[in-house]
Amino acid sequence: MKYRNNIINDVKRLRREFPLQARVEAIDVATCDAYTSVLSAWIQDGVAPQPDIIPKMKFEKLLALDTIVMTNSGLGCYPFSAEKTGINVEFRGHHVYAMSAIDAFAISFLTESEIIIQSRCSKCALPLTIKTDDLGQNMEALPAGTQVEYRQVSTEHTACCNDLFPGITFICATCAAIAIRQSDLISLEEASVVGRVFYYFQSCLINPPDLKNQNKNAA
Ligand SMILES: [Zn+2]
Repeated sequence: MKYRNNIINDVKRLRREFPLQARVEAIDVATCDAYTSVLSAWIQDGVAPQPDIIPKMKFEKLLALDTIVMTNSGLGCYPFSAEKTGINVEFRGHHVYAMSAIDAFAISFLTESEIIIQSRCSKCALPLTIKTDDLGQNMEALPAGTQVEYRQVSTEHTACCNDLFPGITFICATCAAIAIRQSDLISLEEASVVGRVFYYFQSCLINPPDLKNQNKNAA
C-alpha cells in the first residue's frame, strides 16, 4: 500500500509542478498535431528535430507553454532533451538524453524498447548503469541499490528543463542512505511507474485508439 501511495504522491507532485498533460490537452487540435510531430520524430529517429518541421506559429505557441524546448541542437520535447543532461539513454541503437531520471524510464515505455541508462550519482559522481525491458520494468541496476532523488532545486518553475528536472536525478545506495530528506527518494521501480503514468497521454497522441475497429465491433 505504501508503494502505491508513494507513486500517487509523486505523480501528483510532478503534475502540480509541471502540468504538461493539462497544457497539451488545452491547446487547439492543429497545435497539438504539431506537438505530436515533434514527439514522433524523437521516437522514430532518436535525434532532435529542427524547428522547421512545424509551422512557426505553432512552434511559438508550444515553446511559450514549455511543452517543447529550443536549443542549438534542435527541439527538445519532454522526456527527450536535445542538450546533454548527464542522463544518457540508449534505445534501438539511438543515443539520446533524458530530461530527468523519471523521464529516462518514460523513453522505454514510449519507444517500446529495452533501454540502457547511463548516468552518475548526483552526490558522489559514481557511474551508474540501469537496464530495463521494453516497458521500462524488470530493471538491472549497477551498482545495486541505485535510487532516484526528487529534490526541489527552485521554488518557481519557468522552464521545467532548467529549474525542475535538474533536481530529479539518480543517487547511489551509499549516498541515498545518508540523504537528509529520505522522503525525496524514489525506488527505480516506482520512478518507472511514475514516468509511465505522467507520460501516458503522449502514447495516446502517437497511437490514437482505433475508432474504426471500435465502430465495427459496436455494429
Ligand atoms: Zn553517491
